[in-house]
Amino acid sequence: MSDNVFPVPAEVAARAYVDDAKYQEMYRRSVEDPDGFWREHGKRVDWIKPYTKVKHTSYDYHNVSIKWFEDGTLNVSTNCIDRHLEKRGDQPAIIWEGDDPSEHKVITYRELHHEVCKFANLLHFKGVKKGDRVTIYLPMIPEAAYAMLACARIGAIHSIVFGGFSPDSLAQRIQDCESKVIITADEGLRGGRSVPLKANADRAAEKAPVDCMIVVRRTGGAVTMVEGRDVWYHEEADRVSDHCAPVEMNAEDPLFILYTSGSTGSPKGVLHTTGGYLVYASMTHQYVFDYHDGDIYWCTADVGWVTGHSYIVYGPLANGATTLMFEGVPTYPSAGRFWDVVDKHKVTIFYTAPTAIRSLMGAGDEHVTRTSRKSLRLLGSVGEPINPEAWMWYHKVVGEERCPIVDTWWQTETGGILITPLPGATALKPGSATRPFFGVQPAVVDAEGNFLEGATEGNLVITDSWPGQMRTVYGDHERFVQTYFATYKGMYFTGDGCRRDADGYYWITGRVDDVINVSGHRMGTAEVESALVAHPKVSEAAVVGYPHDIKGQGIYAYVTLMEGEEPTDALKKELVAHVRKEIGPIASPDLIQFAPGLPKTRSGKIMRRILRKIAEDSFENLGDTSTLADPTVVDDLITNRQNRG
Ligand code: ATP
Ligand code: MG
Repeated sequence: MSDNVFPVPAEVAARAYVDDAKYQEMYRRSVEDPDGFWREHGKRVDWIKPYTKVKHTSYDYHNVSIKWFEDGTLNVSTNCIDRHLEKRGDQPAIIWEGDDPSEHKVITYRELHHEVCKFANLLHFKGVKKGDRVTIYLPMIPEAAYAMLACARIGAIHSIVFGGFSPDSLAQRIQDCESKVIITADEGLRGGRSVPLKANADRAAEKAPVDCMIVVRRTGGAVTMVEGRDVWYHEEADRVSDHCAPVEMNAEDPLFILYTSGSTGSPKGVLHTTGGYLVYASMTHQYVFDYHDGDIYWCTADVGWVTGHSYIVYGPLANGATTLMFEGVPTYPSAGRFWDVVDKHKVTIFYTAPTAIRSLMGAGDEHVTRTSRKSLRLLGSVGEPINPEAWMWYHKVVGEERCPIVDTWWQTETGGILITPLPGATALKPGSATRPFFGVQPAVVDAEGNFLEGATEGNLVITDSWPGQMRTVYGDHERFVQTYFATYKGMYFTGDGCRRDADGYYWITGRVDDVINVSGHRMGTAEVESALVAHPKVSEAAVVGYPHDIKGQGIYAYVTLMEGEEPTDALKKELVAHVRKEIGPIASPDLIQFAPGLPKTRSGKIMRRILRKIAEDSFENLGDTSTLADPTVVDDLITNRQNRG
């Protein structure tokens, strides 16, 4: 769709770890000799007992088993903290920026050590042992990172539930992993509004009882403490020592459980383990973001998502980086907040999601251009396909054509980034996640699982394991096998569709379930949506298929307009003509509905399966909507549904 190519800028090449030749050489080695490659790169983390075995994996449908570095032992928290103390004790580990622009805090590695040891001792004191599950339901405050690392220090398995989830969703996730401890806060603070976390946790605990609730004081808002069950973190932390010996963990001991965001169905409890995950998260963080000492790195995700796990906490801290943690939202107090924070803390690397980029693009350039952003040198995107139009805006307006954009494709299941540009090695094409990271072997297959060669389009699979891969669905290995290894035997199925161009670049076209088939032409939703977003009056678009007597499937487009634009019939005609011109008559939307808001998961992804149901007129059976950010959006969409005649 977009044939623009952006070569590696000279300044970026000059400081980067790898150029194109080095990428080719390292990539070749990583797939020809995975054992040798990872034997070497596994050493980037500190092992208590070094591994002798490296890769021991099977994608055989009858015996799926994934093990990396299986006889090595280590502790993740010492890798993220203790080993940096000598050289970086006084370096900021975490820069915390509050919801209110007047609040921020800097936590050095030495302070991080102190806090994590205390938190670990408190957990220990509350009876938490190696292998126990601990549910973390916290806002974006430093204690979230302390709690994660404290679990890792004593070998407990954390399960973070995003603070935007309801009591029911929280209860479901507590029950699923049978956790007996919840760590929460009195209230969260987002966009100037408080979120009643403790009250939610209380309601969840009615359904899913726990033995202990540790409550961090954030706002000072009133809460009810249950005698014998609830304790204040600040009171208890005063009583415990700040020395805590780390527990020696096997590489394959679980590190955390995390539920997927639920775009396609009920969330899966993804299990990640210790050694391979840490090696992979830290290596991708270093190479993909070309992280060097002195960088100020900011990933805007929430720790409730995998991006927050791997690229706010574990990857950066394992690398001794300075990682910024943001409590607020992109539009508070203004749509310029991100760029104000960039200027305030001199952020050099900035990593966010297309949903944020599109909404800021809709709010107008002046929020960006009034800021300096001179410290920025690299931008990143994750979570959904980034429409070329949004990519160009990010590149031109935010990055002033100076900063490469790494469009990183990966999943909760993959633990870390799998397909991505490397800043010093990869010429960029807007909308393409480009090429595989070291050790990752993507392939494109047709519906029967036949490999498609060269420039082609089909289903994205990965043919061999990498160290950061999930090991199982917690408590349900069969679901793991059925979900990922049953569709195409012997391969990991991603659930995503993709196109590979003549340069071997990958373009994610959306979820395979979302592919539409119009008069025999298969189309990814991303392509039609990008054409709509390319229209100057459109800020977001979601496209689904619906039953159509003649074409098999018709195209139904939900369109959100830029601030201040009028939804008129003339504009609908204009949009149809626009898509026709951009892609061709086959992609013309049959019906367009103007939608002030789209149904999104709490991680900001468009939930097309709900839009599909509405377009099909089957409102009764909308499926699992518990992960929707704003369920009221759905009512509006149903009321204003376009008649398909
Ligand atoms: P569920 O699996 O429960 O339906 P989910 O797939 O939204 O939820 P995640 O693991 O958070 O949960 O998201 C991974 C998915 O996000 C990928 O499979 C892909 O569809 C999409 N995605 C992530 N990054 C990119 C990217 N850079 N380009 C295109 N798509 C992306
Ligand atoms: Mg998924």
